[in-house]
Amino acid sequence: MRHDFSPLSLKGLSKAGDIVLPGGEGFPRFSETEFIKHFGRIAYYMNQDDREGFKLLTAMMGVMPSFIVRFILWMATMNHLFPGPLGAVLRQINMGVRGVLFTMYYSGVDGPGKRVLKQLNYNTCINTPYTEDTEMETLLTQNNPLNSPMMFQNSHENPGPTEAAAIFDKARSTYPAIAALTVKERLGFITKLRETILHRQEEIVDVVQKETHKARTDVLISELFPLFEHLEFLEHEAEKALRPEKIATPTSMMGKSSNVWFEPLGTILVISPWNYPFYQAIVPITCSFITGNATVYKPSELTPLKGLVESILIDAGMKPEWVQIVYGDGKSGVELINQRPQKIFFTGSVGTGKKIMGQAAQYLIPVELELGGKDPMLAFEDVNIDRAVKGAVWGAFTNTGQSCTSIERLYVQESIYEKFKQGLVEETKKIKIGVDKDGSADMGGMISERQIKIVAELVKDAVSQGAVMLTGKDWDFQSRFIPPIILEGTNHKMRINQEEIFGPVLPLMKFKDEAHAIQLANDSTFGLSASVWTHDKERALRVASKIVTGNISINNVMLSEGNHALPFGGVKDSGIGRYKGVHGLRSFCNMKSVLADSDSKKIEANWYPYTPLKYTLFTGLTQALFSMGLKKWVGLVRFGLPLESHAQKAKRD
Ligand code: NAD
Repeated sequence: MRHDFSPLSLKGLSKAGDIVLPGGEGFPRFSETEFIKHFGRIAYYMNQDDREGFKLLTAMMGVMPSFIVRFILWMATMNHLFPGPLGAVLRQINMGVRGVLFTMYYSGVDGPGKRVLKQLNYNTCINTPYTEDTEMETLLTQNNPLNSPMMFQNSHENPGPTEAAAIFDKARSTYPAIAALTVKERLGFITKLRETILHRQEEIVDVVQKETHKARTDVLISELFPLFEHLEFLEHEAEKALRPEKIATPTSMMGKSSNVWFEPLGTILVISPWNYPFYQAIVPITCSFITGNATVYKPSELTPLKGLVESILIDAGMKPEWVQIVYGDGKSGVELINQRPQKIFFTGSVGTGKKIMGQAAQYLIPVELELGGKDPMLAFEDVNIDRAVKGAVWGAFTNTGQSCTSIERLYVQESIYEKFKQGLVEETKKIKIGVDKDGSADMGGMISERQIKIVAELVKDAVSQGAVMLTGKDWDFQSRFIPPIILEGTNHKMRINQEEIFGPVLPLMKFKDEAHAIQLANDSTFGLSASVWTHDKERALRVASKIVTGNISINNVMLSEGNHALPFGGVKDSGIGRYKGVHGLRSFCNMKSVLADSDSKKIEANWYPYTPLKYTLFTGLTQALFSMGLKKWVGLVRFGLPLESHAQKAKRD
């Protein structure tokens, strides 16, 4: 079909095409397609004014350097940030240019893009007539951009050894490009990522809710809100945290300087669980990326959120190969570990953590293990009971109890036990269960069928030994919508107080005094988090210091992990290592120690040759240097200076 676009306009269109559709893995680059053949048809359907405007815009792009065209197209994707006419113009450019480019690429009669899509069984029909809601949902799913193969450029499924090797070859070859970016440049992507997530917030909540059966507010406040806090922490602190750090140099090394450099490790394997699938994806991925590493990320097979993370990273401008996503179960995890990443960041159960550490030990891969918890809450008699009760109910049942730091054991001082219990039961009975669309449900359903069975088993075991269900008696021990259960009359010999429940069940127990409370809290193989509730600040600090745990909140619950400047991690069976905060960020780095001396004629006194005189002087120096006060400084002059002059001077070449 004929058109009257000048060669300059077509050059501009081609330039923009190569920026928007650069090709890769089975997809040709835009300019490698025969798009011109189809352009006439598109131009034919434009009205006169649009055609003239489009000609002008593309002709301008034809003379502009590519980086300016790239900048304009990037600005156009950010149109939502610009109010008024500027935003509108950018929106028009975004829709117009992309619309034409994508149409030519994907919907040409027999264009290469369409051929590729056909091979991939992708339905290119986007112009679908209105149908009933259910049919529409199927069509939307078929045509959902999250299902588009474009989104899967950086993802893989159930890799065998060969594919796993290819994934890591790619990660290793892309790593130098990420490492070469400054932290500031990497932060540019983090900012875009934050904006993208903010922009797509509701869509993300929808996708997560669909896969997890969570209450909508749980997704918002437990996955997205803390995620934004984390991204903001990176934006404010990462540059400072990853800057070389000057370290003190001892007197014996006078004249030299010491620094620690925080360099990337190379390739990082992140393996995540199912309880916070979006948060547990983006937080470790961004920690790995900001420190300059290439990332291979494996979500849980139960909550893969297929396509979502990829599309968000792509929207934030990140290259597909920077973060590769691998879908699959434990077997895929095993294959990936066999590729010897430079670090494994694992969040999940104790059992899997042990297996991963065992496998990693064969290759000496450093592991960070964020494992389970059995968090105690201690409520003392001087506490504001109403507030503590409400805190306990939320802390035990938020995210349907499927949180590693939810309250799994509640200990209340004897003197307030009955009053506390009454409040607890009343508040628990108010909880509304459901998968809501408007924020009206308090608690959603369980994510994993296997976990439902575990919860049922633990509750039945406790009840068979005399425990009483104060709430939740109507549960059929099968449905994923488990009502919140308060259990009275349990003891530490029962499995319910030893194993992680990871569901909406709260065993309620009494303690006599401070020492008893501490003893009960520490009587666990876990040590992830805990909370102490009392009006007496000194007691709070005293008790907190005696609880063996990685994290603790005072007069609040699950709050230490809310501050992303604090490191997070467990002791005992709750894991190894820390992430988040400056400590956590640096754990994704090779901490390189650098001691710098200057090139001079001076030969070090401790280098060869050793002589009897050197030995005598060194003996005196050692005695003096590691004594305190005046002796140190006198000794330094008396033995140090003769030692220096006894050492030879190097000859200049
Ligand atoms: P899980 O251990 O069953 O699985 C976690 C991940 O490991 C999944 O992606 C799974 O596919 C993968 N995996 C399984 N076997 C593997 C193997 N042999 N090699 C490599 N990868 C393997 O855990 P889950 O049931 O998904 O999650 C729940 C657990 O996670 C709970 O114990 C919870 O306490 C813990 N968790 C801890 C934290 C924390 O920060 N400490 C946070 C959230 C959840």
